[in-house]
Amino acid sequence: MRPLIYDLDLAELEAELTALGQPGFRAKQIWVAIYQKLKTSPEEITTLPKPLREALAERYSFQALEPVKRIESADGLTVKDLFRLHDGFPVEAVLMYYEERRTLCISSQSGCAIGCSFCATGQMGFKRHLTSGEIVAQVLYYARLLAETEQRITNVVVMGMGEPFLNFDNTMSALDRLNHPEGFGLGARRLTVSTVGIVPGIIKFADAETQYNLAISLHTVDNEFRSSLIPVNRKYSVEEILNACRYYIQKTSRRITFEYALIDNINDSTKDADALVRKIRGMMCHVNLIPLNPTTGYSGQPTQADKVQKFSEVLEANGIPCTVRLRRGIEIGAGCGQLAAEELSNFD
Ligand code: SAH
Ligand code: SF4
Repeated sequence: MRPLIYDLDLAELEAELTALGQPGFRAKQIWVAIYQKLKTSPEEITTLPKPLREALAERYSFQALEPVKRIESADGLTVKDLFRLHDGFPVEAVLMYYEERRTLCISSQSGCAIGCSFCATGQMGFKRHLTSGEIVAQVLYYARLLAETEQRITNVVVMGMGEPFLNFDNTMSALDRLNHPEGFGLGARRLTVSTVGIVPGIIKFADAETQYNLAISLHTVDNEFRSSLIPVNRKYSVEEILNACRYYIQKTSRRITFEYALIDNINDSTKDADALVRKIRGMMCHVNLIPLNPTTGYSGQPTQADKVQKFSEVLEANGIPCTVRLRRGIEIGAGCGQLAAEELSNFD
């Protein structure tokens, strides 16, 4: 199989073009064409000499994802696509239209090995890591879709299928391509990575000293309960995760986001809120409360609005800013944790 053009960083592409006897500026020209002008094949890059276009077409694949199925929410504000990778594995991405923002949620793996009980991706198991190019290609796909109506992607969150810090290098190199001025050119602060709490990943992320946002899926500060929801908590406890977060904040001076899925009568009492406050007080952080989205493999139910309100009041009374995540795309299986490819059986 030909290598995917989106898998190459700029230096790699430059080296390949030099080997083809091309001048130095060609690599940037190609990047601008594919990442900014959103060209889908070398034939469309008419600024390049014809022989080079042909050489590119022979050497590289420009097609990372085959769209299989699109579902839209009734209000049209959430769109989910199921794609097939070249080897048949499924991957999903979700576009959410807000007033000003166009936020795209992308996947870092096909499936996920962590196996969180409440998460549909966890329930489907691990298929494989995505390459950096396959991660970037999800963004390009939607950028082209939005360009049809002169709109743009404003934010990208790596919160779809998979645990990005178990596919660290490919995720970081995808983010670099999305952020690079000659690449997709999205500001670092518009890019967010969410992790279940892979401590070495958090440390490496802090040490990379980028301006990308970091979100941690905490959900509870009770280790015993957290381990029952999120098996990897046995390896990286709440305290170890929070220490890594403190290191990140100290190193980057950036605010961290804690995600907390509220499960009816499970982790949503004011006592639970107090316990959370005790653990994170004083940290530069923000809490995102997400009423649980239902999945077939988990019986927990979402917390009702009045109780969500009480929980958030406890946090705010203690000086911890928090927001309640709008529940979007639930009925189309595009909410958080619902990215299980229903058609998976077709691929196996
Ligand atoms: N693996 C990473 C990123 C993908 S999961 C992580 O776990 O952070 C994206 C987010 O969706 C996480 O915060 C996850 O905890 C949350 N999530 C998963 N299943 C959910 C569900 N059923 N309801 C609400 N949030 C869920
Ligand atoms: Fe994987 Fe995140 Fe789902 Fe857990 S919540 S199974 S880490 S995708």
